[in-house]
Order: sequence, then C-alpha cells, then structure tokens
Amino acid sequence: MPPPSALVWFRRDLRSFDHAALSRALQAHAIVHCVFVYDRTILDALPRSDRRVDFIHASVAELAAELERLGGHLTALHGDPAVVIPQLAAALNATDVYCNHDYEPQAIARDATVAATLAGAGRRLHSFKDQVIFERDEVLSQAGTPFSVYTPYKNAWLKRLREEPGALAPYPVDGLAARLAPGVSHLPTLAALGFTPSNLATLSIPTGMSGAARLFDDFLPRLANYGAARDFPAIKGPSYLSLHLRFGTLAIRHLVRTVWELMARGAGGEGAAVWLAELIWREFYAMILYHHPHVISHAFKPAYDAIVWETGPQADAAFEAWCAGHTGYPLVDAAMAQLNQTGYMHNRLRMVTACFLIKDLGIDWRRGEAYFALHLNDFDLASNNGGWQWASSSGCDAQPYFRIFNPVTQSEKFDPAGRFIRRYLPQLDALNDKEIHAPWLLPPMLLAQKGITLGRDYPAPLVRHDAARERTLARYAVVKTPA
Ligand code: FAD
Repeated sequence: MPPPSALVWFRRDLRSFDHAALSRALQAHAIVHCVFVYDRTILDALPRSDRRVDFIHASVAELAAELERLGGHLTALHGDPAVVIPQLAAALNATDVYCNHDYEPQAIARDATVAATLAGAGRRLHSFKDQVIFERDEVLSQAGTPFSVYTPYKNAWLKRLREEPGALAPYPVDGLAARLAPGVSHLPTLAALGFTPSNLATLSIPTGMSGAARLFDDFLPRLANYGAARDFPAIKGPSYLSLHLRFGTLAIRHLVRTVWELMARGAGGEGAAVWLAELIWREFYAMILYHHPHVISHAFKPAYDAIVWETGPQADAAFEAWCAGHTGYPLVDAAMAQLNQTGYMHNRLRMVTACFLIKDLGIDWRRGEAYFALHLNDFDLASNNGGWQWASSSGCDAQPYFRIFNPVTQSEKFDPAGRFIRRYLPQLDALNDKEIHAPWLLPPMLLAQKGITLGRDYPAPLVRHDAARERTLARYAVVKTPA
C-alpha cells in the first residue's frame, strides 16, 4: 500500500499557481498527487470536434508540464469523475481529496456523490472558494438576503473588498512544491478522447496559463480606454479573457488585484472601474445561479414563464436562419458568423442577437441559450443564462420587456462604418457606410449595380422590425403586473 497522501482534483482551475485547493493540500500533506478527469458524461454529448475540448487538452498539457517543472506530475483520465476520483484516491491511498468549489447545480450534485463515496471509504473531500472573489452568501443585502439587483450587489461587493482586502491574497504553491508527488504525466491524446482537432489553433486562440498571461498583458495597456471601446465590435476593446476565466488558466484574484491597485493609484483610467464592474457581473450571475438554480430551465421571474413563444415549422425555420446567420439583418448575421466561425461573440452582439431571436423572431430564449452553450468557447452556465434572461427581460435586473433593441439602429451606432459587418459578410462590401446596415432599403436596381441580389447573395429580412416589435409587446402583455 502506498504511503498516505492527498489528491488534488483539477476542474475549472487549470493552473499551477495561486490555486486554493492545491495550496491547501500542499500545506496539509507531505505527498500530493494531481489529477484531471475528462468528464465522459459531458464529452459524450459534444460534437466530435469542439474548440473547448481542444482548449482544455492544450491547457491540461501545459498544466502537466508546469507541475513537472515544479517536481510533480499530472494524471489525466477520462470517465465519470464520480467513479474515477474515488477509485484513484483508493489506488493512491489518498486520505484526502482537494478541489475548488463549482457552483453549477450538476457539479454540486456530482461533488456530493464523490464526497459520499469517499466518506464511505473513510476519505474526505475538501472544497474551497477559488473562481470568484466573493461567493454564495458572502455579499448579502442589509436584510441578510441575496441580492437580485446588480448595482446594490456591486456596491456591497466593493464595500466588502475594501473591508477585506485579504480576499485578493494569492494562494501560494511554489514554496511547498517539494511535496508534489514526482512522476511522469499520463495524458490521453485527443484521438483517445474520441475527438478530432477543431480550428482553435488556426484561429490562434491562446491556450493555457501562458496564453492567459499573454492576453492579460496585451489588455492592460488598453484597460484605461475599455469603457469607451468595449461596445464597438470592430475594435479590439475587450480583454478576450472569458475563456481563460471559464477554465481557470488565470487566477481571478490576480486580475482584480491588478485593477484594484491601479485604481488605488488613480492609474487605471476610467476603464479600470468599468472592467472591474464586468468581473463583478460574472460573480453576480454565479451567485444568482447558486441561490436560484431554477433559472436553468425557468424564468428568474416566474410570471415570464407564461409567455407563449412561436413554435412550429415557421418558427423552426426562423431559428435555423438565426443560427446560420441568415436573418437578413447584417449586424445579427455577422455576429452569428463570428460565433460559428470562432466560438467568440462580442458582448454587444450577444445582446443584439439574443434580443433579435427573442423579440424580433418571438422564439423562446432557452433555444438561443442552448445554441450559445454549444458554440461559445467561453460558455459558462451562470453568465450565459444570466445574459439570456437579461435579454428576454425575465431575469433579475433584466432590461424591461418593452425595451426592444432595433437591430438597424444598433448597427448604425456600434458598427457605424460597417467594419465588423464587412469582416464577416464580404458580399456586402460594395455597400457604403450608410447602406450596409439595412440593404433591403435600397432599390433593387441600385443593389444590382453593386452586385447584390437579395435572396441570392444575401437574404431578404426575415421579419419587419416594427411589426415584430408590436407582436412582442402583445406577447409580453401576459407579464404586465396589475398596478
Ligand atoms: P471583457 O469585456 O473583457 O470582460 C471581462 C470579463 O468580465 C469577461 O471575460 C467575463 O468573465 C466578465 N463579464 C463581462 N461581461 C459580463 C456579463 N455581461 N456577464 C457576466 N460576466 C461578464 N460570458 C461568459 O463568460 N460565458 C457565457 O457563456 C456568456 N454568455 C452570454 C450570453 C449572452 C446572451 C450575453 C448578453 C452575455 C454573455 N456573456 C457570457 C457575458 C459577456 O458577453 C462575455 O463575458 C464577454 O463578451 C467575454 O468577452 P471578454 O472576455 O473579452 O470580456
């Protein structure tokens, strides 16, 4: 029997530094093993080529190399973690298994099963806060209840951080690394996992801890201008860190600490506070999902479950057209092309496309949410659900139901020269900066002179926005609460 040890189970925290579970395990045990499990219960539901699987695969390889550099190693297995983890713990004689909290209901249930199985064999599962600064009940209203409106939550979050700056302290690993169990990492190939490579490498999407650090370094000089640039999809405004935040190739504490220190020195410009507010949205939605797991399948505000959505062959065809980027609204179609080709979609465009599906096409937000879940590289249950419920007006602190984005006005405002549209819809390039937002408004002769025939080179619009708007207001009448 091997000597007693601890096992660190990596999940959405693929890094070897500032890692709560790894740090705690190293502090408490003389021998620490490391494992990552490709979860078959999730993998089997994915298409055989998936950018997220590629990303994880590359990031796990970098994690293994880094653990080896520190003197340890990583075992990567595939199977059902609820079975694999207790088996591995038994084989290694690991008395204690360490991991970081995951707030998704399925993960909570899985961890409860693992904890119970381990306990049955006299072992313990320890779990720690790691992926957020403040979790669960750590930021509550004065009445002691969870917030359901963002701005007071953000204010309370900031107040708590001012009172407890230690929340940003890193969890040390390096000084204790001699306790990592040495060995050779065993990592399955993509093929062994049943996958073929996606276009992740062609897209030059940086992977692993090194990729996350590069992206953050690239973003920092742009931080001060973030507030002004972030809404324009043709501009390199945001950080593009969401994928890395999702898989924990960087530590949220490092991001917040950096911004917090810049703000304290008055050095982050107005962008620093705006960007921090976005990181707080992420925590807000994680908190909402934790306290209100019903949001996975129901409206946060129950009255909105009474809405009757479009169904049947026509609605199915409209949904397919939206998915494929064939709605006839250039900004919507270019955004969907960005998603389909790269797995990323700019935040402004997530709002525009979601609103279009729900409020122009009258289609249930859950269908759009599921499509994003399948295609977004950074898919995160809490943020995706929060974003969709915001767009459908059914969420906490959502946009009011009568606020309906006009896809043409959004296009003129946020892509004024059509630079983003031209990137993804080159067939519209001959249109000038005014024409490109609504090609159907041009006389067919003029369009033809520019080499465009609607229905052949580019779709005619699926719906008329004004009429769709009226239908939506009628559809949402069921949620109007009596005065
Ligand atoms: P930046 O602008 O640089 O923001 C920094 C970080 O803050 C992001 O990486 C993200 O972690 C967080 N953040 C920013 N905006 C939001 C927000 N509105 N809600 C929650 N967190 C935010 N984000 C996801 O990470 N995964 C999703 O599955 C997801 N689905 C969405 C669906 C819809 C319909 C909408 C409207 C938004 C969704 N978002 C989602 C939020 C947001 O669009 C992305 O986080 C952002 O576009 C990622 O790009 P970035 O990293 O360059 O962001």
